[in-house]
Amino acid sequence: MPLPTHTHCPYCGLQCAMSVTGTSVTPVEFPTNRGRLCQKGWSSADLLTHTDRLLQPLVRRDGQLRETSWDDALYRVARGFRGAQAVGGRDAVGVFGAGALTNEKAYLLGKFARVALGTANIDYSGRFCMAAASEAGLRSFGVDRGLPFPVADLDDAGAVLVFGGNPAETMPPFMQHLEPAASCGGLIVVDPRQSATAERALRGKGIHVALTPGTDLPLALALTHLAVTEGFADRAYIAERTSGFDEFWAAAARWWPERAEQVTGVAVSQMYQVVQTLCAARDRGAGAYVLTARGAEQHRDGTDTVSAVIALALVLGLCGRPGSGYGCVTGQANGQGGRELGQKAGQLPGYRKITDPADRAHLGKVWGVDPGELPGAGMSACEMFAALGRPGGIRALMVCGSNIAVSAPDASRVIEGLRSLDLLVVNDFVLSETAQLADVVLPVLQWAEEEGTLTSLEGRVLRRRRSVPAPPGPRSELHILQDLAVRLGQPADRFPTSAPQVFEELRAATAGAAADYSGITYQRLDDGQALYWPCPGADHPGTPRLFLDRFATADGRARFVPVEPRGPAEPADSQFPLLATTGRLLAQYQSGAQTRRVAALAQAAGPMFAQMHPDVAARAGLSDGDQVEVVSRRGRTAAIVRCDPTMRPDTVFLPFHFPGLASANRLTNAVLDPDSGMPEFKVCAIRLDKPTAAPDSPTHDHTDHTSGHHRLQEISDPVQIPRGCP
Ligand code: SF4
Repeated sequence: MPLPTHTHCPYCGLQCAMSVTGTSVTPVEFPTNRGRLCQKGWSSADLLTHTDRLLQPLVRRDGQLRETSWDDALYRVARGFRGAQAVGGRDAVGVFGAGALTNEKAYLLGKFARVALGTANIDYSGRFCMAAASEAGLRSFGVDRGLPFPVADLDDAGAVLVFGGNPAETMPPFMQHLEPAASCGGLIVVDPRQSATAERALRGKGIHVALTPGTDLPLALALTHLAVTEGFADRAYIAERTSGFDEFWAAAARWWPERAEQVTGVAVSQMYQVVQTLCAARDRGAGAYVLTARGAEQHRDGTDTVSAVIALALVLGLCGRPGSGYGCVTGQANGQGGRELGQKAGQLPGYRKITDPADRAHLGKVWGVDPGELPGAGMSACEMFAALGRPGGIRALMVCGSNIAVSAPDASRVIEGLRSLDLLVVNDFVLSETAQLADVVLPVLQWAEEEGTLTSLEGRVLRRRRSVPAPPGPRSELHILQDLAVRLGQPADRFPTSAPQVFEELRAATAGAAADYSGITYQRLDDGQALYWPCPGADHPGTPRLFLDRFATADGRARFVPVEPRGPAEPADSQFPLLATTGRLLAQYQSGAQTRRVAALAQAAGPMFAQMHPDVAARAGLSDGDQVEVVSRRGRTAAIVRCDPTMRPDTVFLPFHFPGLASANRLTNAVLDPDSGMPEFKVCAIRLDKPTAAPDSPTHDHTDHTSGHHRLQEISDPVQIPRGCP
């Protein structure tokens, strides 16, 4: 009988603690999940023995993916990288990582890109997740940590404003921490849709602010305006702990509530209620918190929107005080560690900047290379996708644990780009839709088969422990990176393959940086110490709460940032009269590459649907349960009509977990927030068409029928993949 192993859920940033015995999972008492798991966590071990598990490398021969040896696969990858760089220069090879990678893998991937490949072009899936909040946090606080306080601090809150988040579905155990506020009418949810979180707020006599999609920034400015003009501002706090209020106010003053009401559709009286609820909790000492998530971020003015929400929190005097604060709820398992340890474009480990000579010198020393040889800042995710296969762009791409064929905006164009590459390499443990397009697929280990660390949404570093033996065949990314680095001319010892060894190097790489891990060791974590970065020394206790004395800016003050709404890039018009907004479901995770393969989750989530008001369906001649084609300027998506009288009559909600014809990202707009590179997932103009021909079940279509490229046929053909898991 195997012994239970204490580890954490592989899916989201809450990092619920669990005990794994063989392939059986049970929740563990831990501050973030308090002995609870969601459906995804309970079923997380199902994939360990799934028949779709990849066990051997695959290479494309005669148009089909066929099993091969590791030596052959890696030889082809190294040769392909060298060939692409010989033609297009060092930056012709791109690397795309993931917020699901452990800290050690994210770190080594960044080093591999900059040192072994010498390319500037590395970015990761977190660009879609919280890049805007990251940028806004840096602007206002001087450092980017999702929650600058432990999740459990929310337990004492009298009011919590969730601006653009739906934790009741994305991370259900998180809701325990909102219960005290929700039960006393203090939960406020900003969301165009009456989500499960909004319903919880309403049940407790809280507030649901159902704004027009794409108007988050005017709303945030109007709330701040109200706070200032109605006497809710904490003037002493603004004077003592912030800078830039006057410049901010010069812009925000133009967004008086009545003007914002016209744009957002939110009544002034409700805006007042929101601000008053937060202030009442603050003033009675019950604690007031403001949280943002993807709903505030995934806009072309996402960074500015989060800056405006932060401004509201600053005006109310909530940040950097015990019992109150602002935070961003990170989505992916290692969304936090993944972005601060070197796989983000332009960023070196610890939030060091690749453009800063001192930071380059530090990393050059740790890595044993000439800092002058390190590349500069590269392209962000969508910029890289736009450059796939283009002259002077990316000729070869390595994708590690991401399924960009489903998760990227304007996915059909991304798929075209992937098909035009000289070489596409995908590291994954299942044949995701992106892997189906690859020239080489390298099978990797799963979460329970490996060691490492992750950093949760509250900045706490956690141990991931091996709880089951790895099957023969797949390899850790650490081994893959070392092998490729050696084939590219690097010394093997520059790319360690053991996670503890990589972590030791990572500690040195981040020493003295904003996200300082140097005082964190496996031993301290295994001893049960709760270590939050920055942790600059072996005797340092870590920093659960940031900003209590000062912010991480040069003058120690939080900065107000003046912002001006730009509005959605694609408002509704006569051709496309509705607005689509995308989001997640309780029983699915991100692109669904994993969770669509778990039978219980696939059954619970059901097929792809388009949620709309019954009147909207009726106007299109549709009823609940009908097939519909949702059409934008970029493509069409097949879905089933789900009528819901709580929906706004101008809005259609689309979950983004489904592939092929059912992919919501065939519709979304790849327009970017210029400050963060965040795509505008949350709003695009659409219309509803009755299907011209009955399509196959939207959930089970894994092909892209929009392109005539030769690989379309290859994906449709039976792919020779290994089956079964020992
Ligand atoms: Fe896993 Fe997140 Fe669910 Fe917790 S809330 S069990 S971390 S998916």
